[in-house]
Amino acid sequence: MLTCRKTYFDIPFAHRQHLHDGHCAYVHGHNWDISVTFACDQPDENGFVVDFGKLKFIKKWLDDNFDHACLFSKDDPLRDKLVNAAPEAWKIYIVEKCCCEGIARHLYGIFGKLVASETGGRVRVVSVEVSEDKKNTAKYSE
Ligand SMILES: [Zn+2]
Repeated sequence: MLTCRKTYFDIPFAHRQHLHDGHCAYVHGHNWDISVTFACDQPDENGFVVDFGKLKFIKKWLDDNFDHACLFSKDDPLRDKLVNAAPEAWKIYIVEKCCCEGIARHLYGIFGKLVASETGGRVRVVSVEVSEDKKNTAKYSE
């Protein structure tokens, strides 16, 4: 199996860990790095697993959905109250769990489908890593 990895650096977005017993319960932001590892059995005619220049659909997805957004866990009891107070101040994105681990798992599902579609099934996503401020990293793979 051949693999390659692409990293998108310094994507700014916020989140809040509503169940956390410390300061992570407050809305706060990080610069996030998101790495996607791709695999294939047969490389393309260039010998590539995936052509890094043809991954703009992933960058676009991140720009459209995460860049300058605030991620909330789907069971956050204050989300609607916060957002409805000033809807124009928020670009929200809802995930099951908005920690690094939950975001990695969520993106694995999203990018797995996108990559399979864009490559006709030749390439698959084998892992997604998510880092907060280059310090704390979680990885999801099956
Ligand atoms: Zn945080």
